[in-house]
Amino acid sequence: MQSLQESQLSPERAVFSQVIEAGLGFTHELGRGQVARIVDLHGNQAVDTLFFNARDLDERYSATETIRRQGNIYLTTGSALRSSEGRVLLTIVADTCGRHDTLGGACSAESNQVRYALDKHYMHNCRDSFLLSLARYGHGMTKRDLSHNINFFMNVPVTPEGGLSFEDGVSGPGRYVEMRAEMDVLVLISNCPQLNNPCNAYNPTPVQFLVWDV
Ligand SMILES: [Zn+2]
Repeated sequence: MQSLQESQLSPERAVFSQVIEAGLGFTHELGRGQVARIVDLHGNQAVDTLFFNARDLDERYSATETIRRQGNIYLTTGSALRSSEGRVLLTIVADTCGRHDTLGGACSAESNQVRYALDKHYMHNCRDSFLLSLARYGHGMTKRDLSHNINFFMNVPVTPEGGLSFEDGVSGPGRYVEMRAEMDVLVLISNCPQLNNPCNAYNPTPVQFLVWDV
């Protein structure tokens, strides 16, 4: 499944724009109907992202519901990003990358040790960025609130045997994905600091987050 679709929205008319530096976390609340775009400024970056219903933080993005209902493991234009209650949090309305992962999970101190080496335990990772961002956001959210995530721009193909493999990215400089909030949504991003796998070409880079009132 790959559905390339360009957006008609111009960056000059965005009501919010922020560059998320390489390796940093970020939170933002989207109002229902707003459209958000994530731009892979330099290409081959992985943007680990969780979504929550901003009015009921116990309802959050579910990879299982999303995959089951669309009958496909990859995310692209037209994908409805569903919640733990089966409702649509956001819909992907434009995509110039063509494929996004929701199976690979987010990197952590533990996964860095298991996948790479014991001495990688102290390296900066997405899970720690999520926790720091949640602590700043408040509302009592903790590691218990970290569940399924999307890895925008990340290439994790599934082999014919059903295996997962982390591959060189399929994105490029300036490619973007855009989604419309179907309810008030809290966005939680870790712009992945990973230095040990090819998903971000071993070189974390900044991304841009833009919002429009449509
Ligand atoms: Zn990561």
